[in-house]
Amino acid sequence: MVDDEDDDWSDWQAHPVCAVCLFCEQQSETMDKIYTHMQNVHGFDLHGLRTELNLKFYQQVKLVNYIRREIHQCRCYGCQERFVSKAEALRHIMDSGHVMKLPQISTWDQPQYFFPTYENDALLCGLPDSDSDSEGTAPRSGGDVPVFAEDMTNLRVLKQTSVLNQLLKNRGSYN
Ligand SMILES: [Zn+2]
Ligand SMILES: [Zn+2]
Repeated sequence: MVDDEDDDWSDWQAHPVCAVCLFCEQQSETMDKIYTHMQNVHGFDLHGLRTELNLKFYQQVKLVNYIRREIHQCRCYGCQERFVSKAEALRHIMDSGHVMKLPQISTWDQPQYFFPTYENDALLCGLPDSDSDSEGTAPRSGGDVPVFAEDMTNLRVLKQTSVLNQLLKNRGSYN
């Protein structure tokens, strides 16, 4: 008899999710791919942290939520320095090597970090946040314009034809 393997990560991969990188716009359909991406591209090794800090599943959830919240608030999650923009905060995190610098566990291992920063987070289940709302309001096609121009042309043609021309002439003579 072979017991089920007690590997809590295999479950995750069984469910298709859309995971989003903590540090950039990169998305992936599996958590594992995004973890690999974060490790390779940003040097953030969650698996390593998990092992090193002996994190439980829900602690990882909280850690991820904490990090995303801090970055969302333009703050370095490692040293709590505040910046004017998310991009600045991220640049600091990368440039200062604070990617793997975590504050005391008590800072982020808090009940409020059970809840994602974004409603539809992200690394945990969801889609990217909607910072780019402007893309949704692309100008409508100029389809109306040619029609309008055509109307004007027709109007000009009309102007030269008898009835309208007559009316305009008459009106002119009243002035
Ligand atoms: Zn990334
Ligand atoms: Zn920092």
